[in-house]
Amino acid sequence: MQNEMIIKELSYMVRTYDGLNKLIVSTKNRLTSFFPITLEEGQDKSLKKELREQQYKNDSTLNGYISGKRQAEGLEQIKGRLERDIGKHLVYWDIWNQWLTNVPGIGHYYAGKLILLYYYKFESICPTCGTLIVKKEQTFFCENCQKSIKGEGNLVFKVTERDFPRISSWWHFLGMHNTPHHSVCRTRLTDDGICPKCKVIVSEDDIIYLKPKRQAGIQSDWSSTGRTLAYLISGSFVKTKGNGSRSYRDYYDTRRELREKTHNDSTKGHKHNMAQNETVKLFLSHFWQVARTIDGKPLTEPYIVAKDPVHNKIEPFYWGINHEARETHFSMCEPRMN
Ligand SMILES: [Zn+2]
Ligand SMILES: [Zn+2]
Repeated sequence: MQNEMIIKELSYMVRTYDGLNKLIVSTKNRLTSFFPITLEEGQDKSLKKELREQQYKNDSTLNGYISGKRQAEGLEQIKGRLERDIGKHLVYWDIWNQWLTNVPGIGHYYAGKLILLYYYKFESICPTCGTLIVKKEQTFFCENCQKSIKGEGNLVFKVTERDFPRISSWWHFLGMHNTPHHSVCRTRLTDDGICPKCKVIVSEDDIIYLKPKRQAGIQSDWSSTGRTLAYLISGSFVKTKGNGSRSYRDYYDTRRELREKTHNDSTKGHKHNMAQNETVKLFLSHFWQVARTIDGKPLTEPYIVAKDPVHNKIEPFYWGINHEARETHFSMCEPRMN
């Protein structure tokens, strides 16, 4: 396993980035709600920003809109610095050096987050006796010491390695798997093939495969952080340019065109979502393939091939190039690993 301190450092930076990002979003929302602008009839929405600047330009207080905006910009700068620091840390992982660094749309933050989710499991242990901590009535509890452990600052993590023997288990972990649903009401079927809403046994013809939703009161067996990440990455691919052939952006375009033919009646948004979803699933299967190749682990044919012949027939894009860069990165990280 990678040096535990290096894994923890990456996790620390990614978590701090997440926290900062939340703060930035809420700060910006607060700015616009505390310093409102009312548009006059017929005025374009896009003018809002400009009008706000004008209206509050001369506010005399130190904590008005203008200084608030400056503070928000300061937070963005810290975020940028953190992103670069994450990048410096990624060179300790071959999947970054050999592949992810070449993939347009995958920045430092997404790569760090993916690496952490794929390779490692973080479990909290009791700082006193080292036993795994359980969550109990919204606190953390050590069964061994029979006491609750308060506050995140007191938690100690144990890092172990994860393994996903099949692509399907990796997809499942990220909440990107499909489960049988009733096509009429789009409710998830029980294990016995019953629609709990319509109270009927659903026949094969009325089954559609959809991503499961989070169910109230039931602990999901997939990571919502993972699903959010997959969604963000798929959006990021669409924003890239593509290279006209083998890229995730181009793959999105071909799936989008295909959906134009197969789902002509669907809304634009629906067709876009389908194509985006297929693109990120392809990328995730490539991630799995590259990671396992690097780690010398066996590759199994994904079961999904039967249903969707596209997946995994396409070799990973941007893989197997830039070997010189890899050598450089490798020598860079050696001293830390000793
Ligand atoms: Zn304990
Ligand atoms: Zn139903």
